[in-house]
Amino acid sequence: MGKNLSEFPVQYIKGVGPRRAKLFNTLGIKTAEEALYYLPYRYEDRKNIKKISALGYGRLETVIGKVVAAEIIKLPKRNMKLFELTVSDGSGLVKGKWFNQPFLKKNFEVGQEVILSGVVKRNPYRGIGFEFDNPEYEFVTDDGDAFIHTARIVPIYRTTSGLSVRQLRTIMFNLINTCIKDVSDHIPDEILRRNNFPGLTESILNSHFPESGTDTDSLNSGASIYQKRLYFDELFKFELGLSVIKRGKEVEKGIAFSSDGILVKKFIGTLKFKLTSAQQRVFDEIIHDMRKPHPMNRLLQGDVGCGKTVIAVMAMLTAAECGYQAALMAPTEILAGQHYINIHRMIEDMGLKVCLMTGSKNILRGEREALRCDIASGKINIIIGTHALIQEGVEFKNLGLAIIDEQHKFGVMQRALLKKKGSRVQGFKGSKKDIWSPGHLDTLTPDVLVMTATPIPRTLSMTLYGDLDYSVIDELPPGRRPVITRLFNAGQKEYIYRAIAEETKKSRQVYVVYPVIDETEKTNLKSAIIGREALEKIFPKLKVELIHGRLKPQERENVMASFKKGEIDVLVSTTVIEVGVDVPNAAMMLIVHAERFGLSQLHQLRGRVGRGGSQSYCFLLMYEPVSEDAGRRLDMMVKSSDGFKIAEEDLSIRGPGEFFGTRQAGMPDLKLANIIRDARLLDTARKEAFALIDKDAELNSFPELKRGIEMFWKGKIELFKTS
Ligand code: ADP
Ligand code: MG
Repeated sequence: MGKNLSEFPVQYIKGVGPRRAKLFNTLGIKTAEEALYYLPYRYEDRKNIKKISALGYGRLETVIGKVVAAEIIKLPKRNMKLFELTVSDGSGLVKGKWFNQPFLKKNFEVGQEVILSGVVKRNPYRGIGFEFDNPEYEFVTDDGDAFIHTARIVPIYRTTSGLSVRQLRTIMFNLINTCIKDVSDHIPDEILRRNNFPGLTESILNSHFPESGTDTDSLNSGASIYQKRLYFDELFKFELGLSVIKRGKEVEKGIAFSSDGILVKKFIGTLKFKLTSAQQRVFDEIIHDMRKPHPMNRLLQGDVGCGKTVIAVMAMLTAAECGYQAALMAPTEILAGQHYINIHRMIEDMGLKVCLMTGSKNILRGEREALRCDIASGKINIIIGTHALIQEGVEFKNLGLAIIDEQHKFGVMQRALLKKKGSRVQGFKGSKKDIWSPGHLDTLTPDVLVMTATPIPRTLSMTLYGDLDYSVIDELPPGRRPVITRLFNAGQKEYIYRAIAEETKKSRQVYVVYPVIDETEKTNLKSAIIGREALEKIFPKLKVELIHGRLKPQERENVMASFKKGEIDVLVSTTVIEVGVDVPNAAMMLIVHAERFGLSQLHQLRGRVGRGGSQSYCFLLMYEPVSEDAGRRLDMMVKSSDGFKIAEEDLSIRGPGEFFGTRQAGMPDLKLANIIRDARLLDTARKEAFALIDKDAELNSFPELKRGIEMFWKGKIELFKTS
């Protein structure tokens, strides 16, 4: 047996040692195994050796020749030393120049045979002369295979100060030579064969030091079969973990809701509209889950305005009919308050008790205590709130269903916390036999439904929410007209004001959104407070109000209620109205400094209008200078109202890391694979992983693979509980 690479400290690799080991640590490399998987980010083709006489300016070229001079030149002006090497191959001369590296001289002798690679420049003093700045160099030895830095396809690694690419490359070369024999492949043979993946050893070798026939372009776009094999391994471990988590949830004991749907039928009867077929389908999917004796873990995705709230209400009614409590958690007080007002109105005459639980300081302590008591005793059936719901001290009597609205605003942690408020068994009317078992006497895992309006491309939702089942409302209620979106610059404000005047004349309402509450010298942005004053002057007859995050919750609620009633014509705000706010009579939105907002955010904001039957408008007011990315965002907004297309564009502007931000907390990092570039591979990895877990849930036939995924998911989640 050879070395165990995952425990072999990088320090003991030839050429590393204790000092460089620290530098490797900053690159995220502690072990030999991690070093093997530290892949180049780019490759250069230095294998085609050119005659010096045939060199082309501006191109990356490689030459081979004899050293005819090696000297240090003092540059008097800048007090710098230059090491200059002159090489001849019989067809001509080329110079290599290294600034401030006089120590290099000792490496070279006249007459020695060397290879140089670099971008060819014109020698400014010699007319047609050629030179390289800081070329890569290599000595021609008897051992022709030993070329590392030139005369081959050369890997370029990201490195850190104190460790040059050249040094790192040499170390990698040695590492691979000494360790590759100890690599063992844990991916089941069958899977490798089915997908035509090459072996692990050759994949690692060829991803670092590609064989000479390989196409550099394909390497640089991560498309060589060897690279893909390594990306697959990572995605496969990732998806195996998700699959184990998902399976673990499916076998948890949950509540088998057995409702007749009486309340839901009643509720549908009170609606002024018919459910869309997408809403109907999604509700069927939810009911199907709720009936099972295992907890539901479902993601409901649907673009802004598609009508997720009624679905949430129907699910909550189903839980309530079976004698369970249901909770709906929203990310902001405005939104929770709005849900409360709507839901309360919609269902209170069905004999159910609904309450609002927020962290608002305006609720008296005594009132909050009373609320808590009523929740704990089961007097209240449906609880709507903010994250105050998951705070210490809130106890449910028998929480059977937890719904999280606008999931993207919450973290994975909060999802788990709400779920932990699991219901107690008493007071329970479901199919008792199924779920009653010793060890689960106290709590049952409630069903969980998370809703989001952030349309995530499918491949991404597979990773971000890969442990959840997935439903989508892909249809807007009929009669919705797409919002007309227009882009203006500061010189065109008059037009905007005229449009506002016209809309309000038709008694439609208008939102005006600013990026900041107050003006500050630092940002120099137009602000909501100043904007409101200006608008009041421009429109003396209109009622202009202001809402932002610094208002007291009670004041905010009052403003929102009054806007909803139509008492306010123009509501000036910050992004506090970004999610969920629903005032169908608002038919126009002006976003000031639109260049400052993210694409998803703009789309969310725009979703506040176009909710009624009338044609709505979204005006984007930009202030120059507008960056290239911002320009792309604004163009996309004007071009499309399709949330999925917008999300994809957003993703391609921002890249997956930022797109996810901290939301991805709880998931392991992907170091090699890129879910956009490798979308198809991800799909394959997912299918293979789920199929394998179906066959062998605890991976008993693949102990090494099992250890591998435990390492990969280490600290994130306990995958295999022995019970
Ligand atoms: P979101 O999915 O963005 O949360 P909402 O649930 O707030 O959307 O619904 C947006 C608006 O559409 C609400 O005013 C709601 O009453 C209305 N609505 C929901 N479903 C339908 C439907 N099937 N037909 C017509 N209007 C609907
Ligand atoms: Mg909503």
